[in-house]
Amino acid sequence: MISHKKMKFYGLRDLDNIPQLQNLSADQRFAIKVVSSVLPFRVNNYIIEELIDWDNVPEDPIFQLTFMQKEMLSDDQFRRMAFTLSNNHTFEEIQSAAEDIRLELNPHPAGQMTLNVPLMFDEPVKGVQHKYRETVLIFPSSGQTCHSYCTFCFRWAQFVGMNDLKFATDEAKSFQDYLAANKGVTDLLLTGGDPMIMSARNLAAYIEPFLESEFEHIRNIRIGTKSVAYWPYKFVTDKDADDTLRLFERVVNSGKHLAIMGHYNHWKELSTDVAQEAIRRIRSTGAQIRTQSPLVKNVNDSPDVWARMWKEQVKLGCIPYYFFVERNTGAKNYFSIPLYKAYQIYREAYQELSGLSRTVRGPSMSALPGKVSIEGVTQINGEKVFVLTLLQARNPEWVKKPFFAKYSEKATWLTDLRPAFGRDKFFYQDELNQMIRANNGQFYFNRSEDYEMIENTSFDADE
Ligand SMILES: *Cc1c(COP(=O)(O)O)cnc(C)c1O
Ligand code: SF4
Repeated sequence: MISHKKMKFYGLRDLDNIPQLQNLSADQRFAIKVVSSVLPFRVNNYIIEELIDWDNVPEDPIFQLTFMQKEMLSDDQFRRMAFTLSNNHTFEEIQSAAEDIRLELNPHPAGQMTLNVPLMFDEPVKGVQHKYRETVLIFPSSGQTCHSYCTFCFRWAQFVGMNDLKFATDEAKSFQDYLAANKGVTDLLLTGGDPMIMSARNLAAYIEPFLESEFEHIRNIRIGTKSVAYWPYKFVTDKDADDTLRLFERVVNSGKHLAIMGHYNHWKELSTDVAQEAIRRIRSTGAQIRTQSPLVKNVNDSPDVWARMWKEQVKLGCIPYYFFVERNTGAKNYFSIPLYKAYQIYREAYQELSGLSRTVRGPSMSALPGKVSIEGVTQINGEKVFVLTLLQARNPEWVKKPFFAKYSEKATWLTDLRPAFGRDKFFYQDELNQMIRANNGQFYFNRSEDYEMIENTSFDADE
């Protein structure tokens, strides 16, 4: 029997109330406070009590995943914030120091969020991203926080209020009209934040309309969530756990595929009884669980961790799906791992698996043209190259067409790569530029600087 756990969040102001933290040195605790004054911190009692091995802190991967580390800020940024905190600061002074550092970390907080927003009657459809033909992303307005914040998360700007959620769905639910009108869309992906932070009743209000006949073209409903790792009680003992499962059953019984896109970073997140019971109960509704994770320094940057995680997932009936390269925003210097390393880790882990786990694809970068995967490293005509493909692309014709970049041990993202064999651009580049210029409803740029960012062909803007 798994007993009920009452959810308790800990934020910046509660750091001193986490008894387990008292074993750290005063310096270590102060460092956490300094960084958490800039980047969003939230952890819950399940993670503290059941996932983190406090005898192994600070190395513990789940501690690294949820508690800020000193090196996430540059020395200079850290010093500025530490100084502000130690010197009889006012609340306003702290806020203003935090704001300055945040802008250094992410000068275009709204940029990522405004790309790929479709237009309807010349108006952006609120809370929707439509990048790939088949799949529409929905960002429910009440699902824009999480059960805990991941230290690496590129969405941190929204958690600290830098882009004030203008991205989320509106009251009028215009996303429904957009989807009713777009019969070519087959997949709906609810994302966030974490949509499973919503009550079963709120979640149902987003999902159930799509079970009606005008949405017959929507075959697959996906929910992107970290709740199965961060708060599995949601599916087991929370008071709306049964209602949540009944909602899942209604989707499945309506004849649609329901996929829980479970975000897991480490096998430890699968190791507790409640984590396994959550998976069992979700699967009992007929929903599938597909799993995905980015490669994160000090959390899962070794092949053994991935191999063990994927094997465990398959044993529990989950389907490994994507292995992501973490995009370079926020504390990028802390987290970045060179692409050649990402490929090595992926390949060495993959070699350990039986075919049932080899459904996992990657290492994949969600970049401007699409999801770019590193397929290999090889020599062609004496030149060492990365072999790349697009797993998913703005133009479906680009998908799975091999292309080549000069090998580099420094590159950490697509924008660091240069075409091999003396070419000056990748095969999709001209067409991509045209698409962007045409601005034909597939792309929506909210502010002229977003557009410039792209025109400069620095292609900094992801997704
Ligand atoms: C990954 C992704 C999807 C889903 O792609 P699949 O390959 O179908 O899983 C949809 N939209 C965006 C913006 C994505 O990044
Ligand atoms: S759960 Fe997802 S959205 Fe939330 S902080 Fe982690 S990675 Fe970001």
